[in-house]
Amino acid sequence: MTLAAITPVPLTSCATLLAEIRPGEPISRAAALALIRCSDDDLPALLAAARAAKERFKPGVITYSRKVFLPLTNLCRDYCGYCTFRRDPGEAGAHTMTPDEVLAVARAGEKLGCTEALFSLGDKPELLFPEMRETLRHLGYKSTLHYLEAMCELVLRETSLLPHPNPGLLSAEWIARLAEVSPSMGLMLETTNPALAPSAAHDNAPDKVPAKRLRTIEDAGRQHVPFTTGVLIGIGELLEDRVETLLAIRELHERYRHIQEVIVQNFRAKPAIPMATWTEPGLGEMLRAVAVARLLLPGMNIQAPPNLSAPYYDELADAGINDWGGVSPLTPDYINPEKPWPHLEELRLRTEARGFTLRQRLPVYPEFLPGVVARPGLLSEKLRAAAGDDGLAKVQAVRTA
Ligand code: SF4
Repeated sequence: MTLAAITPVPLTSCATLLAEIRPGEPISRAAALALIRCSDDDLPALLAAARAAKERFKPGVITYSRKVFLPLTNLCRDYCGYCTFRRDPGEAGAHTMTPDEVLAVARAGEKLGCTEALFSLGDKPELLFPEMRETLRHLGYKSTLHYLEAMCELVLRETSLLPHPNPGLLSAEWIARLAEVSPSMGLMLETTNPALAPSAAHDNAPDKVPAKRLRTIEDAGRQHVPFTTGVLIGIGELLEDRVETLLAIRELHERYRHIQEVIVQNFRAKPAIPMATWTEPGLGEMLRAVAVARLLLPGMNIQAPPNLSAPYYDELADAGINDWGGVSPLTPDYINPEKPWPHLEELRLRTEARGFTLRQRLPVYPEFLPGVVARPGLLSEKLRAAAGDDGLAKVQAVRTA
């Protein structure tokens, strides 16, 4: 089922709203609520407005981050209804990477021109599972976050890759600690709706309470940590919730200027998940959500993952994105293993066919680089070595994929 059916609004109202857009200025909540429901007839005009806003912000280029995916542990204390990543201890595929495994993957990625080490992991599994406490004790760490911090430091010290951790909810203290060993970090807000449709996404996921996630994002803002967040489309939220979630992100960014990237990510159904029978949001819903995100956040980086909209992902380039997110020439998307990333040469060709140049960025976006580089230490040294004059990756490895 889907709760987000698109009810067209009268043709003239969307056309009028689009005509009233002032370049560089965000649209209002009321305009966003109308435009996200626009009819198929109005969709081309909405996309044209979003693409124009993107071109005003960052003309001619769409970026991506060449990364390795490091699933440090897939044990997790949450049970999100759409997740295929998480495991319980003893379940087939349950695994916590050793330091040797982390380093081997990072070094292999380094050889392929990767510049990001994305650490994705379950949220605080040791709070639920004695087996994880035992694994951590064996490795010599008090918690998953202590282990993550050490592995970020290891990758930073031993390779040219820059860590970008994605470990779930974080306290202010942990944001500060991880910021010492990574130039940016992330936490999907997903939605501001605390009461999604029942028997679905967040019924058994204590770390997905929107207020808790907003607090982590705000704590990062207080510390000026470049932060990636985003909205999940199709998890039982209403169309209004998509707009409200984007507005909550905008409000935090206006206060702290630290949101480096907003991901607009679509739910994909998979056979073994509780939400296996849910209807996936269609391309039209995604195009509307991305375009409205661009118009609500005209001066912010907007990303949509290409593998989750294959084979039509290049249409998202016409909806106002300026980034494809992390794409790996080496490791699978462990969160969506059945949706392989496009070959980077194909991504380049399809990006160019839409009129854009594909450029490789670092995990931290160029406009956020100076604040991180200003802090002396190993992280600053590694960033200076990796960044070109324009703040993107100094070595552009696209053609060797
Ligand atoms: S989506 Fe993240 S928090 Fe939710 S179950 Fe999967 S790993 Fe855990």
